[in-house]
Amino acid sequence: MEDDPIPLSAIQHAVYCPRQAALIHIERLWEENRFTAEGRVLHARTDEPGSRYSRGVRRVAAMPLASCRLGLAGVADMVEFHRSGGVETPYPVEFKRGKPKAHRADEAQLCAQALCLEEMTGRSVPEGALFYGETRRRVEVRFDDDLRRLTENAAAALRALFASGRTPAAEYERRKCDACSLLDLCRPQAGGRSAKMWLERQVRNALENQSASVSS
Ligand code: SF4
Repeated sequence: MEDDPIPLSAIQHAVYCPRQAALIHIERLWEENRFTAEGRVLHARTDEPGSRYSRGVRRVAAMPLASCRLGLAGVADMVEFHRSGGVETPYPVEFKRGKPKAHRADEAQLCAQALCLEEMTGRSVPEGALFYGETRRRVEVRFDDDLRRLTENAAAALRALFASGRTPAAEYERRKCDACSLLDLCRPQAGGRSAKMWLERQVRNALENQSASVSS
């Protein structure tokens, strides 16, 4: 896993909560709920690969991206190429369910796409957009120095996390945890460490109880 590229989606998880990133990408746990299901459906609609022109803008759907420098790889929902003076500037667009959030996790994921595009095309990528399903609006994102630093730090933290193979302990923060799709698996208020171990224990207990009731 250490040498595998970091999935672009992990940047968003790492900025939101390093434990969430570890649960999803190291322990391979994922809890489907209404929010993740809606997000999956929204992405499925945009995941048809292909390129088309509209009003002078070239749009490439489901475009594979990678950065050797940051060890990142993934697929962008959509990359627009805005032409000016005979030059095309890439402009990533990421589709999200819900609405704009107080934290910067979505922006960092988009910025990671921009960093990949800069490395792949040799062109500067100054901005992109997040499209939110609930508001049906685009929010323009400028890739300023602060956002680039946050994104590169998240990539470095993920590399260290993957190399260690260890899931950070849970720290309960009401606003963050109560909105987290992994709340039931993580159990931060119970001081959860490895959710996988907890799940395995639950299965073992259930099997033991079952065989005890069969033999009695
Ligand atoms: S419940 Fe809280 S600590 Fe656990 S993964 Fe989600 S945000 Fe992180």
